[in-house]
Amino acid sequence: MDEIPRKIALAAAKINAEVDTPKSKLIKCPHCERLLPPSTLFFSQNKARPSGLARLCKECDRAIRVKNGKVKEYDGREKAAQMS
Ligand SMILES: [Zn+2]
Repeated sequence: MDEIPRKIALAAAKINAEVDTPKSKLIKCPHCERLLPPSTLFFSQNKARPSGLARLCKECDRAIRVKNGKVKEYDGREKAAQMS
């Protein structure tokens, strides 16, 4: 799939998830303190956790890994954010 339509589709899916998720179901990222739908659109998968989702949202998770030098900025972004 082309890069741009894919990005638009992902952005649309995120907006839909935010609109469709009741406020009581939103989970807070402890790092950026945003309330986000419990979805792999926003959180990486982590099967070790009861929710099945990572504690930090993808953006924070990535920012921390970039800071720690584990990934280069803007490199492998899509791999790190694997969609289910
Ligand atoms: Zn966050």
